[in-house]
Amino acid sequence: MIVFAVNAGSSSLKFQLLDMPKETVLASGVVERIGFDDAIFSIKYNDQRHKEIKKIKTHKVAVSLLLERLISLEILGNLDEIEGIGHRVVHGGELFSDSVIIDQNVIDGIESVSDLAPLHNPANLTGILAFQEALPNVPAVAVFDTAFHQTMEPTEYMYSLPYEWYEKYGVRKYGFHGTSHKYVSQRAAKMLGKTPEETKVIVCHIGNGASLCAVKEGKSIDTSMGFTPLAGIAMGTRSGDIDPAIVQYISKKEDKSLDQVMEELNKRSGYLGLSELSSDSRDLWQAVERGDKKSILAVEKQAKMIADYIGAYYLLLEGCDAICFTAGIGENASETRKLVVDRLKALGVQLDIKKNLVRGKETVISTDESNIDVLLIPTNEEVMIARDTVRLTK
Ligand code: ADP
Repeated sequence: MIVFAVNAGSSSLKFQLLDMPKETVLASGVVERIGFDDAIFSIKYNDQRHKEIKKIKTHKVAVSLLLERLISLEILGNLDEIEGIGHRVVHGGELFSDSVIIDQNVIDGIESVSDLAPLHNPANLTGILAFQEALPNVPAVAVFDTAFHQTMEPTEYMYSLPYEWYEKYGVRKYGFHGTSHKYVSQRAAKMLGKTPEETKVIVCHIGNGASLCAVKEGKSIDTSMGFTPLAGIAMGTRSGDIDPAIVQYISKKEDKSLDQVMEELNKRSGYLGLSELSSDSRDLWQAVERGDKKSILAVEKQAKMIADYIGAYYLLLEGCDAICFTAGIGENASETRKLVVDRLKALGVQLDIKKNLVRGKETVISTDESNIDVLLIPTNEEVMIARDTVRLTK
């Protein structure tokens, strides 16, 4: 069964075409700069690459071009071979605790929670509608970033704020990166030779955006992102947890609107804010080598915040079988993994310094003596989207 895994952004469309259940990637690529005269369509297939730069006005045009190229590049003989389309949707609010087949009710539901993710949900919907128009007879599935975290208890998801804000406006912790946390926790159980129901793991998804998740018996019981993806640990440009009174204080001091200060918290904080250099982990680690003090502070602050969450989740889980690192930084930056684990001595966690010098490979990086296994697990959100598409449409 051939299925698409699609991630539509406001000006981009990422895709993978997978042969299921083998989980073989037949093609993958992205259309970038949709809406511009010099949009870029790039696709990888069979060890080959194809790229074209042309005017692509809308997501609909991008999808038509993609489908045309699948045939002209002989990736598929016929579009009828596509039997399912899985769409990543960022926010499912409290409406969606699992993936669902997309119908008009689901589209209305995604729209109804768009207030909670005004940048993402409308973009995801544009992708859904573009595929619906191009392939009206192919069933489509929505896979939500928030769904995996719907198993949290009120003590974890409620803020200590006026209760009516939750009732009237849905103010609560939702959590994000759920598809990644689910994938990685399932792989961790496999690596431990157990079922997810028999395991307690902490997943550290550390990319530009970053969050941790405490997974008990296969279910998310807490996660570090909150009402929005701004909360939790420091990220590339996002602050993570701060005292909210800072927002008002800076707004007065710098004569900025609330929106402007929030923009600073989202786009000018985290790695970039503290280092005053870059939001990219590679740049920071180069600067750390040169002894740049602010870059050292930026990476250490993030590691401290990660370790603090690990400590809290260890207590919440009442023990832990594995701590897993994933995403751009988690999979590649051995230095960050070391900084974090160095702070976990009280839990008896020991990193194997040699084994830790690895990138993007599923492997154990702790010593045999470590109280908790430390695992490196490359995430694969696309395969989860494809699996759910098969599960729901078969
Ligand atoms: P997102 O999907 O949230 O945009 P990614 O998961 O792609 O982010 O992670 C991007 C981060 O991963 C960047 O900070 C980048 O520097 C970091 N990264 C990627 N490769 C490496 C590497 N080889 N060494 C250190 N950091 C890396």
